[in-house]
Amino acid sequence: MNARHALTTRRTLLASAAAGSAALALSGRALAKMPLGQPQAPYYYRFMLGKAECTVVTDGQLPLGDPNTAFLNIDKTEIARELHDNFLPADNAVLEQNVLVVNFGDRVVLFDTGMGGDTLFGQTTGKLQTTLRQAGIPPEAVDAVVMSHAHIDHCGGIVGPSGAANFPNAQYYLGEADFDYWTDDGKIPSNYPARAHFLAQARNNLLPVKERIHFYKNEEQILPGITVLSAPGHTVSHSIFMIESGGKQLCYVGDLAHHPVLLLERPRTQFAYDTDPAQSAESRVRMLDMLAANRTPLLAYHFAWPGVGHVAKQGDGFRYYPLGMDLQKVGTL
Ligand SMILES: [Zn+2]
Repeated sequence: MNARHALTTRRTLLASAAAGSAALALSGRALAKMPLGQPQAPYYYRFMLGKAECTVVTDGQLPLGDPNTAFLNIDKTEIARELHDNFLPADNAVLEQNVLVVNFGDRVVLFDTGMGGDTLFGQTTGKLQTTLRQAGIPPEAVDAVVMSHAHIDHCGGIVGPSGAANFPNAQYYLGEADFDYWTDDGKIPSNYPARAHFLAQARNNLLPVKERIHFYKNEEQILPGITVLSAPGHTVSHSIFMIESGGKQLCYVGDLAHHPVLLLERPRTQFAYDTDPAQSAESRVRMLDMLAANRTPLLAYHFAWPGVGHVAKQGDGFRYYPLGMDLQKVGTL
């Protein structure tokens, strides 16, 4: 392109830009050639643990609302300070639901199942079946569903709206005390928050598959590479799981802590949905101590997406260090 031609082209461009501006000024706005309101990116994340392929698949965000009502025996000013210092909103504690799927090569294991059709926390939950498909994981491929406890956001996705099993080929794993407690109207305290939802969702999902549930015990190796560690308090038999493959370990910590700041800086802070808050705090401190000392990576169900990272001791409590996501390849943990 010679200089004269370049100048002409530039003049033409300027002229057409001016015409465009004039049209914009006349109409008041320009229309894009595609509509707004497109969906967010697919919501799964994949990495290797030894020889096993792990995929974190979301059930959607769970907005808990005002943190002052969910976190107890802590000053409101201290809650506000911790949230402010960590650049988190003061008025709504939003929890993720990070569902872990581990493909060991000869077996596919899914940990916890999300809220299912219950909308106690709004319309943003219950996405698991959609995101599993986005991640290329057919529900029929799941051989085992391992549950940390029988709360609504962990057992709610076992059956679909028609009552049919979402994971038709799966064996289930749960603590027996949790099964008994959450399906029994006589065991759940009358003042438990949203009690009717918890009871109904446990019954709807657990009773139809009761014959296919293996009730696990503390320190039991329920499947090759998966060992139960009892961590009660959040519920009567809440448990976490040490997952191993090819000499690598990952601890799935379920609901050992619901919030990466408010239950770690002061780990004896109580959570409104704990059945025994003091016991829950004991379990939290004991297990986080172990994970911090061994530098074991963890996956936390409710921490910020995708919930994979480490904990270390800090002051009288702990600090969570999220791992960055490797989006160029399926990286190793
Ligand atoms: Zn939960």
